[in-house]
Amino acid sequence: MNAELLSVGTELLLGEILNTDAQFLAEELSLLGINVYYQTVVGDNRTRLKQALELALERADIVIASGGLGPTPDDLTKEVIAECMGEQLALHEESLANIIAYHQKIGKRMPQSNKKQALLPEHGIVLPNHNGTAPGCIIEKNGKIVVMLPGPPNELKPMFLESVKPFLMKKSDDVLYSETLKIFGIGESKVAELLQDIMENSKNPTLAPYAETCGMRLRLTAKCRDAEEGRTLVLPVKEKIKGIIGKYIYCEEEKGLPEVVVRMLLERKLTISAAESCTGGMFCKMITDMAGVSAILNESFVTYANTAKMNYLGVKAETLEQFGAVSEQTAREMAQGVCKATGADVGVGITGIAGPDGGTEEKPVGLVYVGVCVGGHVSVQELRLVGNRDKIRYSACLYAFDCIRQKLISNNT
Ligand code: ATP
Ligand code: MG
Repeated sequence: MNAELLSVGTELLLGEILNTDAQFLAEELSLLGINVYYQTVVGDNRTRLKQALELALERADIVIASGGLGPTPDDLTKEVIAECMGEQLALHEESLANIIAYHQKIGKRMPQSNKKQALLPEHGIVLPNHNGTAPGCIIEKNGKIVVMLPGPPNELKPMFLESVKPFLMKKSDDVLYSETLKIFGIGESKVAELLQDIMENSKNPTLAPYAETCGMRLRLTAKCRDAEEGRTLVLPVKEKIKGIIGKYIYCEEEKGLPEVVVRMLLERKLTISAAESCTGGMFCKMITDMAGVSAILNESFVTYANTAKMNYLGVKAETLEQFGAVSEQTAREMAQGVCKATGADVGVGITGIAGPDGGTEEKPVGLVYVGVCVGGHVSVQELRLVGNRDKIRYSACLYAFDCIRQKLISNNT
């Protein structure tokens, strides 16, 4: 089965809004194993909408139209679809009652024009709208399926998931089942090299790597009858991958590295404090982006100047003099020092050169040291990061999170 998306709205053509409905629908359909060969965008114009719909019906089994179901005269989608499918519009009492109830709920008088939204194709399956007034509709006729959905994404998405997805799942024998592995600390090309055999030979599931700002994800997708069969197909391939690059896989869900580490700390009831130099608080910001972290984070330091590193963390003057502020030794003393100063179970010290200036031949821009102290034991990682100032600082924070993760796993704390 193949589908065509028909996005209706002049705003889309003018570039005033982004076609996020089409993106959502395309991704959902691909997960259902339904191929989308064409996406069409057409304005609120009766003649062109009719032409676009007729063409879509010629080349697709399923046409999913979005937008233009509203009460105003420029909302034409329903009328045009009904005409093309040889359907009469009739008053759907239940929808009218819903529209009246919706207006009562939001405390507004219902404009008479809204009644138009309760006029629906007589042989259609009506899709209730719990987040707005326009009901959607499915017409199945002459071997074709036409679905019409309201344009606002907060109405379209739940309607698709609640009503259209189950309908389409019944039509197709195959579904696509996907699992994701989140990877950090190894480059995409290295992963491709190490997994070359599996990538080339595994046909079901297939493997697709996706680069992220820092790190990557690997998606395993199986064509199957149901999720259970999907899991069975994916499992042995996933285990093989873990056998090769397991130590770089930090999560098997769509989660970020900071979230994974914060969860580990919460589960183990460990507190954390950071001493940040070049990241200037970014590491702590990434922790506090999540709710509920007061259980693990009490305080931290931004120690940019050498004097601050000495005063607050007890970094030795000789260390700074002999090795410099950006050095393994300083990162080590920062991580140890912050644990001592705050009594935290996990201490992090980050010092480096984020650029664009300040690099030397010996200590170039992108050189960062990340120290992590757990239970009095410190390890320091030297990083040679690339990118602009933001990217270097962001990567440094993620490496710090990864270092904590590795340490907690190996300590089994
Ligand atoms: P309404 O009842 O609000 O008029 P509608 O079904 O008639 O809904 P449109 O009038 O086409 O839909 O669009 C209403 C709003 O929905 C747009 O202003 C826009 O914010 C959003 N929208 C419409 N189509 C899309 C799309 N393809 N992608 C993202 N947003 C969209
Ligand atoms: Mg509208």
